[in-house]
Amino acid sequence: MRRKLIVANWKSNPESWREAKAILAPLKRTIKNLTKVEAIICPPAIFLPDSFTLISKTQRLSLGAQDAFWEPTGPYTGQVSAAMLRKAGAKYVILGHSERRALGENNGQTNLKIKAALKEGLRVIFCVGEKERDQHGFYLKTLKQQLEDGLKGIPRKWLADLVVAYEPVWSVGAKARRVDTPADFVEQAIFIKKVASGFIGNEAARKLPVLYGGSVSPKNASGFLSVGEADGLLVGRASLCADKFSDILRQANEAKSL
Ligand code: PEP
Repeated sequence: MRRKLIVANWKSNPESWREAKAILAPLKRTIKNLTKVEAIICPPAIFLPDSFTLISKTQRLSLGAQDAFWEPTGPYTGQVSAAMLRKAGAKYVILGHSERRALGENNGQTNLKIKAALKEGLRVIFCVGEKERDQHGFYLKTLKQQLEDGLKGIPRKWLADLVVAYEPVWSVGAKARRVDTPADFVEQAIFIKKVASGFIGNEAARKLPVLYGGSVSPKNASGFLSVGEADGLLVGRASLCADKFSDILRQANEAKSL
């Protein structure tokens, strides 16, 4: 049985460790009885060491970072490397998030980050998604390009630690126009696996976890996991509320693909 991966992207929230602890601590209790789920909490990097101490030895509760620089050390003011994040307790890292891309990150830079993170032994949650969904399917070209550029030149054996998150940009964050539908997600996941098969082979592509992200809430989570057959979810706003995130974790534990 493969566990559903439920990822919490806290973005630049909350302001203090005291508040972060108030979200994280209850999740230790929630996850206790949920054997079919792995919860991956991605707080701001500054909270990783304390988070690691707080959740250490809690099964099925892991930490992730929200970005990673490709050089391990050096004269790169403000950057935090994959090596540093791993040593601070991260097991996963989100890369290529649309909010990083909106700040200027391009496909080539995402590729460098993916390479560095996988080399360091981090599991990568590689975000892809179009800004606009057109009627003619041109948006699939964007998805293909993001995947092909992002995975270029990465040794196949490292890609065993890859997770892809499909996040249509128009459904992410407080300005989201609408939420995608589980039926649409099924099609995008098939497309992503098809493109990925060129890099990792058919068998590994079949097993590649593809998550849905974009305005996930307790109201729509089970639809994406059952009808949408998602291998997990990437949750932004709803992950900042321990009750809502716990609710999503419980739904994931109960989810049965149709
Ligand atoms: C995200 O941060 O990746 C995200 C999907 O955010 P939200 O759930 O708030 O749309």
